Amino acid sequence: MKVIVAEGEKCERCWNVTPLVGLDADHPTLCPRCAAVMKKLS
Ligand SMILES: [Zn+2]
Repeated sequence: MKVIVAEGEKCERCWNVTPLVGLDADHPTLCPRCAAVMKKLS
């Protein structure tokens, strides 16, 4: 049995593990989706 290792960083907000986390300079700990939400809120 093979263990599936999720690649990438874990988004602090939604806990999705994706290599896309950190792409947004304003929210380096969030995935792009959450970063967009945070921008809407601010
Ligand atoms: Zn997220």
